[in-house]
Amino acid sequence: MPANNEEVGGCRRALEAKRLELIGRQHNAESIIIERVADAADESVLANQRDLAVDTLNREAAVLRLVTEALERIATGEYGFCMECGEPISAKRLAALPWAALCLKCQEVADRLDRTSGPRPKSWFQDAA
Ligand SMILES: [Zn+2]
Repeated sequence: MPANNEEVGGCRRALEAKRLELIGRQHNAESIIIERVADAADESVLANQRDLAVDTLNREAAVLRLVTEALERIATGEYGFCMECGEPISAKRLAALPWAALCLKCQEVADRLDRTSGPRPKSWFQDAA
């Protein structure tokens, strides 16, 4: 079942709340990084913390982009349809993941492609040798 208007409205509110939360966290995280840079005496600890903070920032920036794109799709009436195959995304999936751009089937394919093109565990090479 595709999402109805009421469900899309609920998703829009969830997306707007998430967007504000993420923007707020980005500002916070930036000031935390600056603070730690000023305080840390140990270079390696500092680098570690900075990497972690940058990691989190990057991940949240990626979600923020998805959330913003989902809000744009609501505005253009494309929301709730898979960007890959054009089939409606189930209301249940949208309720769990309001910024989902792909239906479950296409997401599974994308995840699989992601895994095979990503870095491979060492054991694969050992098995082949
Ligand atoms: Zn699809």
